[in-house]
Amino acid sequence: VRAFESVGSTNDVLRQMAGDGAPAGTVVVADEQTAGRGRMGRQWQAPPGSSLLFSVLFRPDLPAGDVYRLVMACGLATAEAAEAAAGRHVDVKWPNDLQIGGKKLAGILPESAIVGERPLWVSAGVGLNVNQAFAAGDPLHETATSLRRASGRTLDRAVLLAQVLARLNVWTQQIGREVLLDAWRGRCLTLGQRVRVETPGGAVEGVAEDITPQGALWLRDEAGQRHRIAGEASLRLP
Ligand code: ATP
Repeated sequence: VRAFESVGSTNDVLRQMAGDGAPAGTVVVADEQTAGRGRMGRQWQAPPGSSLLFSVLFRPDLPAGDVYRLVMACGLATAEAAEAAAGRHVDVKWPNDLQIGGKKLAGILPESAIVGERPLWVSAGVGLNVNQAFAAGDPLHETATSLRRASGRTLDRAVLLAQVLARLNVWTQQIGREVLLDAWRGRCLTLGQRVRVETPGGAVEGVAEDITPQGALWLRDEAGQRHRIAGEASLRLP
């Protein structure tokens, strides 16, 4: 584990280390990200010292199309550690968010280098809101939560990181197994809901029916037609 006070993003630092030959299991954690990212270049915001911001390096023996399984493993590990710390149930919102009570608690952002059909490495970045207040007036007040906001307790981020990584050791051993997918489905509040997704080919509305082993979403529209929605799509409740 390499800890930094301030970095652009933990994924950026880990990408550099991966290129220099860092082994699988290398973790970069930072107190502050000056250029924290969400999907599609959106900003991830976290005041210095408030959050758990880390990336884990994988060199997985997986087809490139299965890289999303590492998002599932990191998401489940983070959800379980967060749940134990806060005493509140943590849900998955497809494709890459964790929520408590409908508010966003964490985001997971995978970045990878693919050579041919295999990932050379994958860096899974996790931003978990730990001690932010998200008080009235904060632009994220309505949509975000933290473990402190959900539980009333201020938490030690280092202890939490150790707990996440302990759970990650368990889930990475299940990476090719159905049990991983089932656990992810079991937490996914998107399933069974009516959703609208913006895809590069236009908007699709329907009921979310299942998640594929590669992490895509099956959606059934009003006409009964099934659509397979890849993880890059943007999900909205209609
Ligand atoms: P959505 O939040 O609508 O599901 P998304 O999954 O595409 O969209 P991400 O790319 O995972 O979102 O995260 C970026 C977005 O999350 C930002 O646009 C902002 O709205 C929100 N955000 C930024 N920082 C935080 C934070 N610390 N906690 C919760 N939400 C945040």
